[in-house]
Amino acid sequence: MLHISKLTKEAIKEIKLIVFDVDGVLVPRGTKIKQEGNTTTLETKRIHEKQIEQIKKLYELGYYVDINSGRGLYMLQEMFREVMPFVSLTYENGSCSWYKGKLYQHVNSYEHLRHVLPKLQKVKHANIKGFEPKEFIITIHAHDRVPQIEEIMKTEDELYCIWNGEAYDIGIKEIQTKAIGLRNMMDVHNLKKENVLAIGDNYNDKEMMDCAGISVTADKTRVEGTYYVELNGEKLPADVMMTQILKVNGVKI
Ligand SMILES: [Mg+2]
Repeated sequence: MLHISKLTKEAIKEIKLIVFDVDGVLVPRGTKIKQEGNTTTLETKRIHEKQIEQIKKLYELGYYVDINSGRGLYMLQEMFREVMPFVSLTYENGSCSWYKGKLYQHVNSYEHLRHVLPKLQKVKHANIKGFEPKEFIITIHAHDRVPQIEEIMKTEDELYCIWNGEAYDIGIKEIQTKAIGLRNMMDVHNLKKENVLAIGDNYNDKEMMDCAGISVTADKTRVEGTYYVELNGEKLPADVMMTQILKVNGVKI
């Protein structure tokens, strides 16, 4: 695995679409959420001015940019309002994409998840912080693992339940992953695997990164890549990677 600073102009000559995970890549990891009765409090992180400039520059160079996250659309729109003219937003682990104001639904999970949600909502445990509002997947934030949740999910053969150190993501196995959203956006732009570069830092990025000709991992302990970038460096992983891509294209920022 090479450090991203070794990425050359030659290596990315076929790349037309750049795909970004959000947490740990474009913004620092961690979601602040609190749920008391029917009141959910959720912190909105904002993309930094520098990343706005970098994404604009990528767009001006002719790259398509897809922001591919486990988060919901309402949240991504708040986080990325300033770059929405230049990107597509693929959300809830590939379930749906927003592009130029239009929605492209890739997965219909309703019948697959509706029976399990009430069971999970009944679990009472001091570790549980709250259910993040989602349309297509289930995300339960917790201080640490919750045995009762894992017990319920053991009997759900059709569903995955990924613990990422801060939350459980629950969706349809092999179908409801970031890859299905990426493949659909590749079709929209008429692109092949060799035209795609993807960066991610977590277990739910694996399938998406396997779909890309070039993958960049921001956490080697969780997911592999062609290249790597430090998770906890001075700059955000997306910043380091975009700086390099812009640099080999002759743009300094
Ligand atoms: Mg992430």
